[in-house]
Amino acid sequence: MQIPRARLCGGAAERLCFGAVFNSRRELHSTKSSPVPRDVAPRDESTPRRFDRLRRLPWLPLLIVALIILSAPFAVDPLRDAATGGPITDATLRRSGGYLLLAPISAVLDTLTLLSHRQHIALILTLVLGWVLWWWWSRREADLAVPRRAVRIASRVGIALAVLAGVYAVALLVPRPMAALETAGPNIIAIDFHAHTKYSHDGRWNWEPEDVRAWHRKAGFDVAFIADHRTFDGAREGWANNPTESGTETLLLPALEAVWKGEHVIVLDADRMYRGIFDAALRDVDDDALRLASLVPGNEPVLIWTIPGNLANVRTAKGRGTPGIRALEVVDGAPRGLTQSRLDRARIVHIADSTDVALVAGSDSHGWGHAASAWTLMLIPGWRGAPPDEVTRAISATIRNNGRETTRVAERYVANTEDAALVPFTVPIVTWGMFRSLSSDERIVWFAWVAALTMLARLPAMRRRAPGE
Ligand SMILES: [Zn+2]
Repeated sequence: MQIPRARLCGGAAERLCFGAVFNSRRELHSTKSSPVPRDVAPRDESTPRRFDRLRRLPWLPLLIVALIILSAPFAVDPLRDAATGGPITDATLRRSGGYLLLAPISAVLDTLTLLSHRQHIALILTLVLGWVLWWWWSRREADLAVPRRAVRIASRVGIALAVLAGVYAVALLVPRPMAALETAGPNIIAIDFHAHTKYSHDGRWNWEPEDVRAWHRKAGFDVAFIADHRTFDGAREGWANNPTESGTETLLLPALEAVWKGEHVIVLDADRMYRGIFDAALRDVDDDALRLASLVPGNEPVLIWTIPGNLANVRTAKGRGTPGIRALEVVDGAPRGLTQSRLDRARIVHIADSTDVALVAGSDSHGWGHAASAWTLMLIPGWRGAPPDEVTRAISATIRNNGRETTRVAERYVANTEDAALVPFTVPIVTWGMFRSLSSDERIVWFAWVAALTMLARLPAMRRRAPGE
């Protein structure tokens, strides 16, 4: 219903329509007594109109441009040492031409893929809450009665959630160029100690061992251990298709993920060397069998404790000839693994330091997503050109003999907001972190994308205006 303005703008209601009152005062100012002719006198823009003009500014592109520029002086390396938080000197992150060309998509989807379980929840709640508030305060729906307004907003939130689900689906399923690790010398080998195939009960239904190999090759891994649950099928198939000489293609090496003392552990070379330490279902590691197999120095099974898990249950090996954990995952790429990896980082590193066991990374990839969270770097002289079985023996022997000093873990930088006080601010903190970790090349491509998309968005309005001009 339209209410005549004159009626609303009298008396107490005057403050509701300050715009109209303001205009009438302008009329009073430009009477004949004014020395400036009425048409030439400068007219102040009314506040609502100014507000409207401000609203029409391309705020999102302006915000992105500001973030690209302001984050540049605070740039961080996209890779860092997972144990120390310091720089990684043995490797760099290589972004291919395709990755660069899609720089904004690459950065946003990589960040989404590398969020922890907690951060995903914080992101979804923030977006839903922000969207509801925006519509609630937006003037577009102000004339509706409250119940209708709530229903309208709920349906808009539903659409927004569907769009978000679409973005997640693209991040998880659609192949795209990956950021890859590039090692600094021929004797350094980049390893993933924890990968799954479709043969694992929790692997993606069509995640073949050769898909695993391709994913790891694109991420710059020289080796990936297939550590399925309760089956060697994926590991055997991957092994059968390995090249005869290492270094020409990503090697798939055999392992098994099983349970020992209530914790999930990965046993390297489980099939050929240590089949006898598992129960018939390949679910548990038998305690006595493990002790027996560990009696022979140089033959001890290498057990890797995985996260998420209970740090209080970690039983590290006490030296040669003893059973136990010989490496700890410091980064696990699954969302729940990333949460504990970031929350308990100091405790994990402390256990590794104090008991002299290695720190490693596992992608824990089950076939979703196209970004690697971390790479384990080891120095294995002469591994290139060696047969795969020599490489797997050398990796186990090096971890067994040299403990903590054996490995470096290079992880992708994502701002850590796991702490209860920081987790509500995940969206701004992680976004700022993402802009900080952009390279100069990426920043240029971001600018180009923002400019192109802003122009495209304005094209219809410019076309409409053109005939009258
Ligand atoms: Zn796993």
